[in-house]
Amino acid sequence: MAVVATSDTIAAIATAPGRGGVGVIRVSGSNLLPFAFALTGKNPQPRYATLADFKAADGTAVDSGLLLFFPGPNSFTGEDVLELQGHGGPVVMQMLLARCLDLGARLAEPGEFSRRAFLNGKMDLAQAEAVADLIDAATTSAARSAVRSLQGEFSRAIGELNEELINLRMLVEATLDFPEEDIDFLQAANAFGRLERLQLKLAEIFDRAGQGKLLQSGLHVVLAGQPNVGKSSLLNRLTGDDLAIVTPIAGTTRDALRSTIQIEGIPLHIIDTAGLRDTEDVVEKIGIARSWQEIERADVVVLLVDANVGVSAVDREILAKMPERLQRITVYNKIDLAGREPERHDESDGVAISLSAKANRGIELLRQELLRIAGWHQAEDVFIARERHLRALAAAQEHVAAARSVVEGIMPALELFAEELRLAQQSLGQITGEFTADDLLGVIFSRFCIGK
Ligand code: GDP
Ligand code: ZN
Repeated sequence: MAVVATSDTIAAIATAPGRGGVGVIRVSGSNLLPFAFALTGKNPQPRYATLADFKAADGTAVDSGLLLFFPGPNSFTGEDVLELQGHGGPVVMQMLLARCLDLGARLAEPGEFSRRAFLNGKMDLAQAEAVADLIDAATTSAARSAVRSLQGEFSRAIGELNEELINLRMLVEATLDFPEEDIDFLQAANAFGRLERLQLKLAEIFDRAGQGKLLQSGLHVVLAGQPNVGKSSLLNRLTGDDLAIVTPIAGTTRDALRSTIQIEGIPLHIIDTAGLRDTEDVVEKIGIARSWQEIERADVVVLLVDANVGVSAVDREILAKMPERLQRITVYNKIDLAGREPERHDESDGVAISLSAKANRGIELLRQELLRIAGWHQAEDVFIARERHLRALAAAQEHVAAARSVVEGIMPALELFAEELRLAQQSLGQITGEFTADDLLGVIFSRFCIGK
């Protein structure tokens, strides 16, 4: 059998598993025209859709569909890329993929297309991560901010900081070359003022990135309360006019104990403790163990009680099992029955909110409380970010602060000043991937899905 693909050719099904009208197989390698010809008997025109039969080795058709050819370097990966758009059934997609492997391609690893795009300079690391975050986005706000990062807004902001750092470093290097100028020279060049501006900018970007991380990961909420206190009613109210998005999680049906709603675009992952009962059922036991794992990672527990009954012994028992670090909101529901008004007040163990889910009163108090705990304050211009970006930004902030204390004369050593600026720059470089170790790249891309 003719192997026509170069040894670096990778292939994968790029569309989601299951059945669909169209399924896409993506192929990337350094020279794919012979590959396309062997597969279809045609030489596709670059960037035009070519109607073609995808042929097996004996010439019979496996499928027929559209063939797209993007010659490198003007492609997603920067290499030659072929997209085979066939019929989106699992069997026909597998047959088509098998045919690509026959022709010498190998199965792509998770994130390998994006990794090649990064290595070939088609996008930086923050952008590549934004691709994955866009696919994983749980709310429209998260998706929008992921697109913003994907288009390079986050990277540009980092780039501007970087440029300012370079300018400052050049200034210091010049001073180091002419030691007699020394600190006076830096003062004349307003190094101090520029550092201060840099610090402000860094703080602002840190904040926007922090909001982006929140949009992506959301708030994890444990919802506790006895049957009939109004948990379902409250969830429906909280969701309001927002689109309720149920996160599909692979696994047992018991995972449905976790649902995701959103408030102002922040995903709220709700773990319902209603399912946490003693059981002999094996499947249910697994689900319950998983719920407890979720609870370990939670941020806040909302205890819902009937305002006319108060917190019961059973509620206290459940609360006692929760991790201590969880913030607490106690919600007194059904105040309409007692003719009471909605209100918020502090209690010794957290915040208490009185409301009525049924009468739709006081819901806003709870929404605001949840947003406050999440730390959400910004709706505009957020770019999606990850924990590692925040750590790098925090490190850059520390180095700039250290550099500033040098200029202020606390540690008057120019070499140190230059070194702190260099370290700050290096921290920023980790975000865009300029200074990122290979093993970290491996970890980042391995979490992508296959075909991406
Ligand atoms: P869950 O079992 O905790 O999910 O409780 P549900 O949301 O199913 O509500 C149980 C019952 O309480 C239903 O009949 C609701 O209509 C009622 N209910 C829920 N919230 C309120 C409320 O604020 N006031 C009144 N009067 N009834 C409520
Ligand atoms: Zn989660």
